[in-house]
Amino acid sequence: MRYAIISDIHSNLEALRAVLDRTASLNVDATFCLGDIVGYNANPNECVEIVRSEGIRCILGNHDSRAAGLEEPDDFNPLAAKAVLWTREQLTGENKKYLEGLPRELRVDDLVLIHGSIHDTDRYILYKDDIVVNFRSLKDLPGPPRIGFFGHTHVRIAFVLARSLLSMEYADVLDIYDDRYYLINPGSVGQPRDGDPRAAFAVYDAKDHTVTFHHAEYDVKTCQDKVIRAGLPPRLAERLAVGR
Ligand code: ZN
Repeated sequence: MRYAIISDIHSNLEALRAVLDRTASLNVDATFCLGDIVGYNANPNECVEIVRSEGIRCILGNHDSRAAGLEEPDDFNPLAAKAVLWTREQLTGENKKYLEGLPRELRVDDLVLIHGSIHDTDRYILYKDDIVVNFRSLKDLPGPPRIGFFGHTHVRIAFVLARSLLSMEYADVLDIYDDRYYLINPGSVGQPRDGDPRAAFAVYDAKDHTVTFHHAEYDVKTCQDKVIRAGLPPRLAERLAVGR
């Protein structure tokens, strides 16, 4: 099987379309989304509707849960909170209901799909402690999962655990070995923060035993203009140009 893994779309319609144009030519059997369809940018309903109509299986992100009203954005920074409350007003009842119904984790073959951390939607995998805790949780999961795909940080990275040796991999093609564990972030579709403003995603090929990281150029200017026109904080438009 070949799966496209996308994450953190964040209401960026131009970036989502560019990524789906690319995955259509990459011969994937299915596409999975690691959460945060909405938040930050100006096309929440359009993005939710594309994810639904394309049959993309998705999990709940921290912005999705706040936008749907499952939680309040009390712990969000002011810009993120403003955008999420704006999003809540825009979302149709049907799209809110869809977000409310998303699971927090998905198991597919030997994969577990999470937003922040295993068993914790809101916790980032950033520092060594988080990485160690998540590898422990990954090993403790019943069944085959030994690859965890996560989002939330908007930074493309692969952490690899070979016996007790932990490493970080930045190559565009990552080889998957049977005796190793992996925590992999494909990067963000709609608000990259690793200095590359292009929309990021990954393809997992179970037959070739590889994960390949991809980028898609998209019309940043159009997305920025919509953010400004919607009255969202200008900083949210500016950051798209630099991928921070
Ligand atoms: Zn996010």
